[in-house]
Amino acid sequence: YEAADVPDQMLFYDPTMAVGRTNRVILENDLHQALINNELYLVYQPQICLKTREMISLEALIRWKHPERGIISPLEFIPIAEDSGLIVPIGNWVLETACYQTKLLQNEFNRPFKVAVNLSLGQLFQENFVHVVQSILFKTQLPANSLELEITESMTMDSNHITPILHQLKCIGVSIALDDFGTGYSSLSYLKDFPIDCLKIDRTFVNNIRSHKGHEPIVDMILSMAKHLELKVVAEGIEIEQQLNYLLRNDCDFIQGYLMSKPLSFESLIQKYNEIQDRTKDLIERVV
Ligand code: C2E
Ligand code: MG
Ligand code: MG
Ligand code: MG
Repeated sequence: YEAADVPDQMLFYDPTMAVGRTNRVILENDLHQALINNELYLVYQPQICLKTREMISLEALIRWKHPERGIISPLEFIPIAEDSGLIVPIGNWVLETACYQTKLLQNEFNRPFKVAVNLSLGQLFQENFVHVVQSILFKTQLPANSLELEITESMTMDSNHITPILHQLKCIGVSIALDDFGTGYSSLSYLKDFPIDCLKIDRTFVNNIRSHKGHEPIVDMILSMAKHLELKVVAEGIEIEQQLNYLLRNDCDFIQGYLMSKPLSFESLIQKYNEIQDRTKDLIERVV
């Protein structure tokens, strides 16, 4: 900022800002250790296909078990990882762990589960990201079409850099989803030129579906746009039966949310897979 752009009161000492900054510095130092000390782990949230009513995919979500502070949300530490450059080693660890565990899950249940992994922009700026992905797939023996990478709308601002990378990823068989769709500022026109396979409707829009007859214009618009562009749609954040009913009636492809299952540790996922399958089938039966 130019000094002249800063409002006067910002120049006064604000103790909460200092606390905020100190906390960030401490967390950044701790985050360096977290990778080495195995404090990071993944949880998996089931995604259910509404046509087959089967759990066919999972989203991998990172967690940090801090030795003193307990579990820290990715909403708090991912931005720190992004600013410090730690996102590259952490992101690669997430990718490898998600691919490895999904391969184990496929073997355990003899089903071609797919896993969705969240990416940060910094990862797409690392040297040879496509090669990193290829090596991980080779090392873990996960088929490329079992991996989906999630980018966010804000990343599409760097379309000159990321478009060719996404095309290469699609060439090796990996699919791309656009996460938190509808929350960004970008125009819709980039969508048809962007190499994506899937739109994820942000849960703030799903959350607006409240009554049984409820009409949610943004969800409708995203569903019809996806149909025209031949993209799959995942709705996230389904918490109540009315939302499930609405998405069923309006031909959404996949659903994800606490109503079906919270994100689970890898061990609980293996333990509860059959139970989640049965419970979800009953739920859809009842709601339809
Ligand atoms: P996201 O990718 O949009 O993930 C969905 C978030 O919604 C997850 O929060 C999930 O736990 C939560 N969620 C799912 N269903 C429901 C529901 O029914 N109700 C409510 N209230 N919430 C629900 P989480 O795990 O805290 O992750 C937050 C964000 O952190 C993610 O949002 C993603 O942007 C980021 N993140 C998580 N893991 C990673 C990672 O490995 N790498 C990167 N770069 N970002 C990650
Ligand atoms: Mg996501
Ligand atoms: Mg999302
Ligand atoms: Mg979200």
